[in-house]
Amino acid sequence: MDFQQIFDAAPTVQSSAPGRVNLLGEHTDYNDGFVLPTAIPQETTVFLGFSSTNQHHFYSAELEERVDITDSNMDSSSKLQGFASYVWGCIRLLEQMRHSIPPMNVFVTSAVPIGSGLSSSAALEVAMLRGLRSLLQLDLDDVKIAQLGQQAEIQYAGVNCGIMDQMASSLADPQHLLFLDTRTLERQKIPLPQDTEVVVIDSGIPRKLATSGYNQRRAECEEASRLLKIKALRDVTDPEAVETLPEPWRRRARHVVTENNRVLEVRQGVSAERFGELMNASHASLRDDYEVSVAGLDHLVDILQKTPDVLGARLTGAGFGGACVALVRAGRGEAIAHHVLEQYTSLGYSGHILVPALNHTQQ
Ligand code: ADP
Ligand code: MG
Repeated sequence: MDFQQIFDAAPTVQSSAPGRVNLLGEHTDYNDGFVLPTAIPQETTVFLGFSSTNQHHFYSAELEERVDITDSNMDSSSKLQGFASYVWGCIRLLEQMRHSIPPMNVFVTSAVPIGSGLSSSAALEVAMLRGLRSLLQLDLDDVKIAQLGQQAEIQYAGVNCGIMDQMASSLADPQHLLFLDTRTLERQKIPLPQDTEVVVIDSGIPRKLATSGYNQRRAECEEASRLLKIKALRDVTDPEAVETLPEPWRRRARHVVTENNRVLEVRQGVSAERFGELMNASHASLRDDYEVSVAGLDHLVDILQKTPDVLGARLTGAGFGGACVALVRAGRGEAIAHHVLEQYTSLGYSGHILVPALNHTQQ
């Protein structure tokens, strides 16, 4: 199905935005901390045209789902669920900025795996906002687009997310890592270590507890900040103070503090080997201190870490399932991905390769 078949007209504009994978800096963005994502080659594309009815019409090719925005679901965002809530949220937020948005036909199609931790949701929001910007010539910069996308996800899709995903989709490219200070939005594009590439493998484990676990961790971090009398865990200046906290706040805060330091160390410039060590340390911290890993992710990371030419590996995304990311020697990604997947599936899991070799240095 394409736009023409669904809406019986040709689209006026088309716009795209990539998914992302986070190399380092997990569960730090809602603590005002530091992250290090990169864009992946897979993108979400949105085709836009003016609707000939007085309603908005949204269609997702992946979900084969059509949603018409009618008077009954228009006033109450809570009645809209699923992908339409992200698209509708983007439109509503622009209207609240006093931009006039005419009734639209929106056709969404994507190569970003949905719900695997590669941020198909941010890719959808950023692609949609870019499309509206170009169609209506709106004065929005890429940071504003990221912020609007985040608000659409929070206010309309009901996901209390940080700013990393939308900033990565809006500002990162597959040739660089995007260092981002999520408090100040200061950012810097930095190269991947020389002669390395990135592999991403889906564990095949659904992120069942992801939402409840995520909200619980957020609340624990807020409580830890309150106990430490600081605004956010980003503001910890004395790591010893963290060690005086009661459990579980001590370990939660320790993860955030050490994870921020790992990102800052990479920003200073490190060897490929050191980068890998920091990724391994990140996984251990997410597993033991932050407790967001599960057995399947630990198995997959373990296999990756034991495979020759893998420099480091960790779970990526919120955890409780989803994907793992590894830094490997350039040229070895594809072979490593297949070898690791074979071992992983022989344990009874059903994973698959999401990005076989994302090579920054040679692109
Ligand atoms: P992730 O962002 O890691 O892929 P999320 O749970 O945050 O996972 O976002 C997935 C949701 O985003 C989907 O359930 C759907 O509502 C929406 N979405 C993303 N991409 C598409 C798409 N191509 N078509 C329809 N909905 C999409
Ligand atoms: Mg998402």
